[in-house]
Amino acid sequence: MADSKLCVLVFGAHPDDPDSKSGGTAALYTRAGHVVKMVSLTNGDAGHMWEGGAPLAWRRRIEAANSGKTLGCEYITLDSHDGMLLPTLEVRNEVISIVRNFKPDLVLCPRMWDYHPDHRACGVVVVDAMYMATVPNVVSGAEHLRKMPVIAYGYDHFQKPYPIQPDVVVDISSVLDQKTDALGCHTSQMYEWLPYNRRELDQVPEGEAERRAWLGEMYHARSAKQADFYRAELIARYGEEKGRACVAVEVYEGSEYGSPLTDENKDILFPF
Ligand SMILES: [Zn+2]
Repeated sequence: MADSKLCVLVFGAHPDDPDSKSGGTAALYTRAGHVVKMVSLTNGDAGHMWEGGAPLAWRRRIEAANSGKTLGCEYITLDSHDGMLLPTLEVRNEVISIVRNFKPDLVLCPRMWDYHPDHRACGVVVVDAMYMATVPNVVSGAEHLRKMPVIAYGYDHFQKPYPIQPDVVVDISSVLDQKTDALGCHTSQMYEWLPYNRRELDQVPEGEAERRAWLGEMYHARSAKQADFYRAELIARYGEEKGRACVAVEVYEGSEYGSPLTDENKDILFPF
């Protein structure tokens, strides 16, 4: 943090996970001149109903890169198969190399509890990699970290073993449209696979502008509900006026496995 430019690394299991959880926060960082990198640990090659394999992986790699451009950050897709991610040594060492080369101040990742096995594996393997990234004798190709970054978990709605603790709430109202534009880059997901999986494919409008408006309406409604849920925390962080006006939020819980997220470093690491 010496030159006050933050480096923030966001991990997810699939190309659309890092931006779904942290796209608004990423847009706020890049708008303020900080550096964000998003990493999908799988290539997403199972996330569709009539496409698959390498052609789908390539399609999703391009969608993710375009989402990154929309948010002002690099967005890379690794090559583990979708639906088959395991917290193996091989994946852990890949994560260690990425972390060491990027030298993040803050790492954002999912918690280890989730309905999707890839999401769980992602949470485990990222946290496993973080301490090992400080150990010089592990993965010799990239210089070890001298300081453990802060790790924070992104939002999920699971209640067991305990609901996510809102250590930091980030008002993303001003970049909600930008986040939705980024998510809209994932055509194969937002307009095809996810509605198909929800049995709502017939609700997706035909035209480009129409379906973007449809996506926007959906995200605005979801976001407003979530902002209402965290209203007290938003008011505590931003004050009465801004806290009440917030219509979209991203929530983070500090991990015990990284450097501590404290009242002192919270406003440095999340400067908005
Ligand atoms: Zn996912």
